[in-house]
Amino acid sequence: MPATLIGRDAQIQARLEAARPVGPQSADARNLTDLFRSLYEETARTMDATVFLFALYDEASETVRVVRQMDRGIEHPGGSFPLGKGFTSEVIRTGTPKLIRNWATEGPPVRLLYGTEAKELVTPQSGVVAPILSGERVLGVLSAQSYRAEAYDSADLLRLASIAAHGGMAVQRMRAKEQRTAEQERRAFELEAVLATMTDALLIVDARGAIVQLNKAARELLCLDSASLVLGQPLEQQRVEQWPETAREITAALAPTIDALRLGTSIAEAEVELHSGQLRVLSVGASVLRSASGIPQGGVILLRDVTAQRDLERLREDIFSMAWHDMQAPIAVIRGHAELLQRLLSSGEGDGKALQAEAALILTHADRLADLLTTLFDVSCLEAGLLSIARSPMDLGAMAREVAEGMRPAARHEIKVASDERVAGEWDEGRIRQVLMNVLSNALKYSPEGTTVTVSVTADERNATVRVRDQGIGLDRSELARLFRRGYRAESAKKIPGGGLGLYFSKGIVAAHGGRMWAESAGHGKGSAFCFTLPLEERA
Ligand code: ADP
Repeated sequence: MPATLIGRDAQIQARLEAARPVGPQSADARNLTDLFRSLYEETARTMDATVFLFALYDEASETVRVVRQMDRGIEHPGGSFPLGKGFTSEVIRTGTPKLIRNWATEGPPVRLLYGTEAKELVTPQSGVVAPILSGERVLGVLSAQSYRAEAYDSADLLRLASIAAHGGMAVQRMRAKEQRTAEQERRAFELEAVLATMTDALLIVDARGAIVQLNKAARELLCLDSASLVLGQPLEQQRVEQWPETAREITAALAPTIDALRLGTSIAEAEVELHSGQLRVLSVGASVLRSASGIPQGGVILLRDVTAQRDLERLREDIFSMAWHDMQAPIAVIRGHAELLQRLLSSGEGDGKALQAEAALILTHADRLADLLTTLFDVSCLEAGLLSIARSPMDLGAMAREVAEGMRPAARHEIKVASDERVAGEWDEGRIRQVLMNVLSNALKYSPEGTTVTVSVTADERNATVRVRDQGIGLDRSELARLFRRGYRAESAKKIPGGGLGLYFSKGIVAAHGGRMWAESAGHGKGSAFCFTLPLEERA
């Protein structure tokens, strides 16, 4: 609008003032319909707004979308039309307001979207159209029309332009808000999806240390359902006493982490051991969340169950130190005898028998070394879940007799075997022999010379049961409870060499067959019995 127009008419300024209130009012508009109504009200207050239209322009599709329109006090729904040749389209194209004093003589008749009335096409005779601008861009138009010719002058055009300017700001605010909301929704959705698919447990705590969000993995780890945990309530106000033991133990263990977050300190990585039920190790990391001004707002706690990882690491260390410890002796013996053999051969001393004896000792100790390596390998297979069972028909009683037979020559004990006629099943012969040899050699190892070791093999309809009873050092209750753990050796057994792997591995083999293994003892010095069952039929 040329500046001269404003200078020319002092009244214009006063009327412009009248249009001001549209600013705050349109600023309150929550949606486009609201905005239409406030724009209409302000326009109708200062000029003829018999017909009033508020439209937005979609550049991409070159479509004019009428938000709503007013005709003689009645509100009509909007619609859309492609950018055309009419005055509205012209204003959108040029971005310049337009005054139509006499429609009939100045341009094409306006087509009202709500159509005809009483079968008669009613058309306005004059109008003003102002673009709604955002900088250079045309966002839409406001148009006031009258059924009278000459209903508007240039001052009306100015006023409408001013109302359109406020309308433009409101549209931009709304669009920005819509965009922010859409963005926030998208982020919230993405966050939800990420949290749900995370295998690590995640807890978000607020500045007071109250848990405000936790993902599925965290609920599972804590064994908490949504009824037990009140989100946003500090832990001290939760009904913790009604929580499952795991949840209580974890939250108690997390107290120092939550305190650190309250004070604005992150924790790179710490480990927490849980002792309720089976021993579990959790790795805990926590990062402080801060406001834009840097004030701590609580933080994110990440928990990962690293039990399996720690177990595997410990296994590797155990295997390494066992290999180191147990291989030194046979290697030293082999070396010693090989040296002696070499000396005998090069000096020509020693008869054939002496040479034979040396070679035989080397072989025996090399076999021991090979057995040791096999055990270590078997244990690592068992740990990794790779222990395979190759079943074939076998008689457990016959095998017990055979194993006992093999041990008798070296044993300084009486070995008795009592077996049912035939105890047949399909089991892994090599593996079951390992179990039998382990329990029988333990019985000999942990009982005084001259005592009796009794092996019994029985069967009922479902299971075969092997019991190996000795009159040895026996076990107390706490030893009985820990006996089958990897590397466990009872205090009373430590004078006798061993690696604490045999029973652990035997139990693994029995379990892989679907059987059960346990030990019985009345106490120290009262002997013990090691027993296992094997199902007669393979269970699915
Ligand atoms: P190792 O005998 O090499 O130490 P095992 O895994 O075979 O390893 O046995 C684990 C522990 O169980 C032994 O160290 C010993 O404390 C105890 N144990 C095993 N068999 C007997 C037994 N027959 N009598 C008493 N204690 C036993």
